[in-house]
Amino acid sequence: MKAHDGMYIDGAWRPAASGETIDVVNPADEQVIGHVPAGSAEDIDTAVRAARAALPGWAATPPAERAASLGALRDALVARKDEIAETVTAELGSPLAFSQAVHASVPIAVADSYAELAATHAFEEKVGNSVVYQEPIGVVGAITPWNYPLHQIVAKVAPALAAGCTVVLKPAEDTPLTAQLFAEAVDEAGIPAGVFNLVTGRGPVAGQALAEHPGVDLVSFTGSTAVGRQIGATAGAAIKKVALELGGKSANVILPSADLAKAVNVGVANVMSNSGQTCSAWTRMLVHHDQYDEAVRLAATAAAKYGDRIGPVVNAKQYARVRSYIEKGVAEGARLVAGGLERPSPQGYFIAPTVFADVTPGMTIAQEEIFGPVLSVLRYDDEDDAARIANGTVYGLAGAVWAGEEAEAVAFARRLETGQVDINGGRFNPRAPFGGYKQSGVGRELGAHGLSEYLQTKSLQF
Ligand code: NAD
Repeated sequence: MKAHDGMYIDGAWRPAASGETIDVVNPADEQVIGHVPAGSAEDIDTAVRAARAALPGWAATPPAERAASLGALRDALVARKDEIAETVTAELGSPLAFSQAVHASVPIAVADSYAELAATHAFEEKVGNSVVYQEPIGVVGAITPWNYPLHQIVAKVAPALAAGCTVVLKPAEDTPLTAQLFAEAVDEAGIPAGVFNLVTGRGPVAGQALAEHPGVDLVSFTGSTAVGRQIGATAGAAIKKVALELGGKSANVILPSADLAKAVNVGVANVMSNSGQTCSAWTRMLVHHDQYDEAVRLAATAAAKYGDRIGPVVNAKQYARVRSYIEKGVAEGARLVAGGLERPSPQGYFIAPTVFADVTPGMTIAQEEIFGPVLSVLRYDDEDDAARIANGTVYGLAGAVWAGEEAEAVAFARRLETGQVDINGGRFNPRAPFGGYKQSGVGRELGAHGLSEYLQTKSLQF
């Protein structure tokens, strides 16, 4: 069991300065399962000061020692694997098997990759008559969402610590218990006080205070486009670096030579897993008109089968939001072939896996991020048409291409305005850079590209 229910600042656990707390609710049964401190600007300031004070010592710690600390952090996460899975299931509602396989395991793989990168990265390089140093950017303000509670935290904190930065984390108010477990792991790993600090609290209060704090050198944010835009504007005015990982409306392009059944089944699973709350989800399936009816039939069958493997969406606000998109899809003339508005359970924020056919590129459900288990199936005439539709949104985060030959899929993938593409299904790679083209964001997470977000370069000429 998690031993602490406070905020973790300067190596110690404490309540909010105001004494106020926020309820944490299980979205599967709408019961309150815990409380966390409602941090305010005062708590953020305390945490940023602690991070600033710890910065010189951590930045000067040799990379090999930082790597060893990250290895100890990975081990502390491994020791909590079951507890992490149970906690994510309690506060996000995802089925336990999914929490174990994804919510607990993926962040461990990411922490592991940064333990290795911290040890092997060239922080110092000779270029002609110069030496180029990569130095930590400073104090990082990390603001994370609830959809992959631990992954989103590790994807920011691990590279920041590897780079020699110190961190203040403000996790999502819906999933703060996982963040407390992470802070316990940091503490157990023996990472010095002040290097990592956790302030729980509401977005417009603690989050905004962190984003605006002059003692923060880089804000790394993952979440909605609306908040990302605001954080980007604030950082721009302060001439401060930002990393933004925002929404997506990714296309799953099935070329005529592909194994249609496999492409559709994997495509449906991709959208429905985590109840559709994945920024990179392939929410638009693009199918050649000759194969369209068959693809719709397969997708409807796959979605109906997926029903008992899906958890609720995270909260009442998301529940209402996703349902309003389903209503909009119907109102704009799309054809519902699976799921819809019927409530699969009298309690909890459950939405049935939903598939819309006859979706045209201009419809709201084909343009806006729904963040729920809702797939739109669109038809295309030829490859140019498919590329036009795939690239025809403001987003560009991820996507998929299926073809009989890999080379054909790769050639098409190069036409997509998007940061990551899975070829014939793909497999998760914790070292592959992840991030957006266009309005899906600024910067990259994971791997060496993710590490470089937290570094700035200095060159000395001889
Ligand atoms: P959000 O952007 O409001 O929340 C994300 C994080 O930002 C949370 O920690 C929140 O507390 C914080 N935050 C909120 N307002 C803030 C502010 N003014 N200043 C600083 N920090 C602030 O997202 P949400 O309301 O939880 O979800 C809404 C939509 O965002 C979803 O439907 C989905 O489309 C999108 N979303 C995307 C991702 C992603 O991974 N890209 C993750 C979650 C949500």
